[in-house]
Amino acid sequence: MRLSKYFVTTFKEAPKEAEVISHILMIRAGMIQKLAAGIYNYLPLAQRSIAKIEKIIREELDKRGLQECLMPAVQPAELWQESGRWGYYGPELLRFKDRKNADYCLGPTHEEVITDMVRRNLKSYRQLPWNIYQIQTKFRDEVRPRFGLMRGREFIMKDAYSFDVDEEASIKSYYLMYDAYTAIFKRCGLKFKAVDASTGAIGGELSHEFQVLADSGEDTILSCSKCDYAANVEKAVSDRVLPKPDRSNVETMKEVATPNQKTIEEISAFLGRSADQFIKTLIYMVDDQPVAVIVPGEQDANEAKIQGALHANSVVAADEETVKRVTGAEVGFAGPVGLKEKIKIIADKQIYSRVNLVCGANKTDFHLTGIDPERDFKADLVADITFAKVGEKCPHCDGVLEQYRGIEVGQVFHLGTKYSEPMHCTFLDKNGKDSTTVMGCYGIGVTRTLAAFIEQNHDDKGIIWSPAVAPFEVEVIPLQSNNEKVCSVAEDIYSQLGKLGIDVLIDDRDERAGFKMNDADLIGFPVQVQVGARSLENGQLEIKARRTGEKVLVDIDKAVPYIQDLLKTL
Ligand code: ATP
Ligand code: MG
Repeated sequence: MRLSKYFVTTFKEAPKEAEVISHILMIRAGMIQKLAAGIYNYLPLAQRSIAKIEKIIREELDKRGLQECLMPAVQPAELWQESGRWGYYGPELLRFKDRKNADYCLGPTHEEVITDMVRRNLKSYRQLPWNIYQIQTKFRDEVRPRFGLMRGREFIMKDAYSFDVDEEASIKSYYLMYDAYTAIFKRCGLKFKAVDASTGAIGGELSHEFQVLADSGEDTILSCSKCDYAANVEKAVSDRVLPKPDRSNVETMKEVATPNQKTIEEISAFLGRSADQFIKTLIYMVDDQPVAVIVPGEQDANEAKIQGALHANSVVAADEETVKRVTGAEVGFAGPVGLKEKIKIIADKQIYSRVNLVCGANKTDFHLTGIDPERDFKADLVADITFAKVGEKCPHCDGVLEQYRGIEVGQVFHLGTKYSEPMHCTFLDKNGKDSTTVMGCYGIGVTRTLAAFIEQNHDDKGIIWSPAVAPFEVEVIPLQSNNEKVCSVAEDIYSQLGKLGIDVLIDDRDERAGFKMNDADLIGFPVQVQVGARSLENGQLEIKARRTGEKVLVDIDKAVPYIQDLLKTL
């Protein structure tokens, strides 16, 4: 490929809205163009890298016996009504009507479509296991699309779905995919961790996220300093000592006036008590039912853990009207004692190690002091619903939890019968009895993986590709475009490399040497072959490795084997 004819324009600056380095560099290197918020053109350079990531994915999945298909992006509402998700999947699902007024959506994921596809072919246990994947465009109307390809609204995903005869076989499929993901991200050259992940709406215990470690990551990971325990903070647990409270001096419950003191900070200053002497009461809508969530005053409620503990499909903060209705007070005065409406109470287990606490009185401008959680109210469920913290003890050994930022590039999920049961995806088992398939689902964000690679591989000059995912492995740069000898040697090396099947580009533009070299570093070609008049006098070329910056003078006739060897090390 010749750069003079290639569809690429590089830029000195990126637009202000580009906050993270992958976004900045992909714009500057002419890889992507924004079409609308969270929607991008993948220009030829980006598309080449995307194709390489997809090839790695296909190779690793195909060799493990997976089968590739392609499902439509447009999905009929009926299937989502059958699974129940039409009702509770939030505004991220882009819904629309066709000319006959029938409801459709743009697929954010494909559990419904594939379950329908499979049930129409599945008859006997003899056909299973099936593990089917596709690489396809997804649409999610994200509330805050940002960071370029990292959180887009339209993006490319590899999604796979396994169908097995029973739980045991399904877990086997799950770990087959876990291994495939490990191999894929290794081959892509990423530093990553597989961490325990929240199963959220789906329930159950088994899910892992593959997190690329980077400061710009939106996820927080806690991992043990000693053993291999690692989890998303949504799911992480620590080994907390929960002593019985000191009951030698239990107060009686008292109502105190706290005019206009609504937040824990305000009220703790007003009453002269520290935040850990408070109970925080939050009203959530859990699958459309109000629930009071009780956590220690100095901590935050963990919505993913609440969702898991209540096996709920959705957990969102209640609006002001609902809070007023269920508490009988203005927002800021909720508490577990004397709620106006009888609603479910879920309490964090740490509060039972404490007495003489303060909480809202469910009466505007009043709080209660002297609360004893054992004595004063009855929770419907006691669970761990707060966040583990850095420095706390590991749940598995005597190490401590350390904190990292991560970019979730993939997730594997054991689904059980969440979709196969409501959608009747069944087969005849060994005994001729109807049985429901057990499923798993597995996603990789292909375009997010590309962005994550750049987050981990760049310097102040630009991107640093590894050959496995580089748009081109080698760029040949004739330094003096008007020098015939320079150009003919460059063309010769370019054609030899091309014949060997190496992805090579030649910068045949009529530009200055410095300009070409800056572009080569910005786009980040792993190997750059500089053909210059001066070194040619000694029959040599200069070969630069982008990652190390190391430049070596090599005889012209040894250049090609040298490049082949160098590519293997980068
Ligand atoms: P997130 O928590 O980041 O919103 P998710 O957990 O909702 O992602 P999954 O449903 O697990 O995402 O989707 C599988 C993969 O698709 C993710 O691991 C991620 O790599 C990718 N992905 C999800 N949402 C986006 C997005 N908005 N833009 C780019 N890639 C995405
Ligand atoms: Mg996920």
